[in-house]
Amino acid sequence: MLSSLPAYEFFAPPRIVFGWGRRSELGNLVRGLGRRAFLISGSRTLDQNGVIESLLDDLKSVGIDSIRCAAITHEPEVSDVDQLVNQLRASSITDGDFVIAVGGGSAIDLAKAVSALLTNTHGSSVLDFLEGVGKGLKIEQQPLPLVVLPTTSGTGSEATKNAVISSYSPPFKKSLRSDMMVPKLVLIDPELSVSVPAAVTAATGMDALTQLIESNISCRAKPIPQALCQRGLEGVVAALRRAFHQPDDRPARELLAQSALLSGMALANSGLGVAHGIAAALGVHCRVPHGLACAMLLPTAIRVNAEASQVELARVMTVMTGRNWASPRAAIEAGLDTITNLLDELKIPRRLSAVGVQSSQLPAIVQSSHGNSLDGNPRKISDVELLEILESLQ
Ligand SMILES: [Zn+2]
Repeated sequence: MLSSLPAYEFFAPPRIVFGWGRRSELGNLVRGLGRRAFLISGSRTLDQNGVIESLLDDLKSVGIDSIRCAAITHEPEVSDVDQLVNQLRASSITDGDFVIAVGGGSAIDLAKAVSALLTNTHGSSVLDFLEGVGKGLKIEQQPLPLVVLPTTSGTGSEATKNAVISSYSPPFKKSLRSDMMVPKLVLIDPELSVSVPAAVTAATGMDALTQLIESNISCRAKPIPQALCQRGLEGVVAALRRAFHQPDDRPARELLAQSALLSGMALANSGLGVAHGIAAALGVHCRVPHGLACAMLLPTAIRVNAEASQVELARVMTVMTGRNWASPRAAIEAGLDTITNLLDELKIPRRLSAVGVQSSQLPAIVQSSHGNSLDGNPRKISDVELLEILESLQ
């Protein structure tokens, strides 16, 4: 029996270039974007292994001046954005300037926020633009063009239109968001992820997996992102295992990079759910890294939505496990087994207390879990239930 389809829109970066070793094409790819590039990078390993230097040489060879900006190794805070914006404004922003981010989600989010604020001067801080906590200012002017080269396979930030910005006092983790903030060019070279430490591979890979599952069952789920999620889930568990144990495994790195990209495209259109809601709160109250928090919460997110979202979850788990199951319930149980075994293999702790969460912090974590991600969860979760969830994990 056919039924009518919902109305929807789909949003994605205008140009995605994917392939092993393709960072060497950066100069040619950005030639038309501008004459001066501000380069924001992540891990210092990128400097040590010569990646940044060869990218700068390539830009120079096509006549583009580059200015090295901050290297950021933590999730970006309000002060990080404001400082870099003020520093770059001093170099007289003109037409022909653009921004390049090379790194994980932190570097990409910092670059997104900076490129937006350099052209939107009607606020005194990024805080004024953040959802839920700021003055409600909107991004009105086109940001500087942004080019991103993700080096971890996880956040999917390369394909989204928001930058997640943290504050620890007061504690919040909120987004700066605009359709205009999506990168102009996404250059994904999976070879860049080879040097990522195993623990980061594990946490970022689990983030991508959580995003693929949560966006697929979100109350804002839509057909095109759901189709992307299905592809992103195929083989992702095996690839994550392989990349964790054997960092230079090319097929595993390629598949993970693609799954992370697809997870970003899905979440930008469909939103997320309870795991991401709580993960943001664990980040600002207890400094639990985003991917690790998502990984620890994923089994719970599946369990609490198992009834409300049974058909969609079963479909997702069937693709993820690569097998057909006798019933939707059996598929969900098999998926949960696969994920809990994976968490053990990746050495990800199960208990919040193991990552420094104190029981006395749980009520504040409940309050900070509210926001855009939790709103996407397939069913409403009360504060009482959120507290129960956290206590059961403590
Ligand atoms: Zn995430």
